[in-house]
Amino acid sequence: MEITKHLFLNLSILIILLFFYLICFDKYKKLLTLKPILIFLFTGLIWVCVQLSYNPVPFSHYDLRIIPLVIGGLYLGMGPILVLALLIIRSFYGWDIGLLETSILYGPLAIVFWLITPWYWKQSSSRRILIAVLLGMILGILTIGGMELFHPYTNWIDAWFAFLVIPPLGIAIVSYAIEFVKKNNQMRLQLIKTEKLKAVEQMGAAISHEIRNPLTAASGFVQLLQDDYLPRHKRREYLALVRDELLSAERVIQDYLTFAKPALEAYEELNVKSELKQIINILQPLANQNSVEINTDFSVIGFIKGDQQKFRQCFINVLKNAIESMPNGGYLSLKTEYDQEYVSVTVKDTGVGMTKEQLERLGEPFYSTKGSKGTGLGMMVVYSIVRAMGGWIRVESEVEAGTVFHFHFPAIRPYRKAENQ
Ligand code: ADP
Ligand code: MG
Repeated sequence: MEITKHLFLNLSILIILLFFYLICFDKYKKLLTLKPILIFLFTGLIWVCVQLSYNPVPFSHYDLRIIPLVIGGLYLGMGPILVLALLIIRSFYGWDIGLLETSILYGPLAIVFWLITPWYWKQSSSRRILIAVLLGMILGILTIGGMELFHPYTNWIDAWFAFLVIPPLGIAIVSYAIEFVKKNNQMRLQLIKTEKLKAVEQMGAAISHEIRNPLTAASGFVQLLQDDYLPRHKRREYLALVRDELLSAERVIQDYLTFAKPALEAYEELNVKSELKQIINILQPLANQNSVEINTDFSVIGFIKGDQQKFRQCFINVLKNAIESMPNGGYLSLKTEYDQEYVSVTVKDTGVGMTKEQLERLGEPFYSTKGSKGTGLGMMVVYSIVRAMGGWIRVESEVEAGTVFHFHFPAIRPYRKAENQ
């Protein structure tokens, strides 16, 4: 049982190291797939194996070096380098008959690796595992052959078991892990790609639908305007309607562009209070239509950095949603607070509110409960703008009671430039 025990200990250590490698893999993927780093790691593994080897007589070392050699040789195409590394490592343990034996066995192996790697990669994943395991077995048999020639070991059953079972088992575990991670990665990439395509497709459909509606309406009014005998007040009314429709088409395009390119274009100093006041002015007619009363409680100061256009777009989307959530009237309160670090904006409505599931989906592209009236782009854009400005959002909502949005933006001190000069 001596060799078996030794090799099992060796295998456990290899598996523990593999486990740590896989844990770090996602985070340091770039570093951990660099060839020099991999050569270093595999040489380290071979060294660990040789260090842990079973030495019945001083010149012979029996261990699991086969595993890193086969895996590194087949999967990474580093066979010849690893064989060289093994011979160098082994030479530190003495220039003896064992080293000669190692060279005889592994020298040709370097050539085998070099020849079969391109073919190996053309095989299917399960065949790759099988080939690696078979190669491990062949090497195991050759090792025992060498053992019988050079070293009188008494318990042959133990030796055969150890070399025919443990290295192939280790190779199977490691190669399976590699194939598994590889397959997972491929699937993830594929998924991201299809998701992206789906998003673009949905976006295209939504955008064309959302733009076509107002444009059709606008062109209808333009047709009516062609009537020479149209009374003046009617003409003015139609023109206002055309303008509204065009503006709503423009807003959809704006949302789409912000989704496609959320980075801020301009970084200017924004006075939160005056920006919000202007946004309220824009939305006042909509609020009146829905009998919504707007209350404000603004702190005296509050400056943040950002893109004015996008800041407005963000709050127009939020306030529009709030107003739309109160079709039978209600109260919309806006409050800003300021401390040294953050400017916070709280938007509270007394509308229909959201369930927990709806709240979780808020900000997902195309998520809307408004049927053909909604685009489901508004909140997605809000989130991306706030994120780009370095801020964050917290939402609380209760069905039939209303919703509260808390926005936090990093505060800046106004006129800092002037102070520094
Ligand atoms: P849309 O307004 O076109 O439906 P949004 O992305 O602006 O798309 O909003 C997504 C969904 O989030 C809305 O359909 C609505 O169900 C919900 N929602 C957003 N704001 C509120 C709010 N203040 N009160 C209740 N529901 C809201
Ligand atoms: Mg909306």
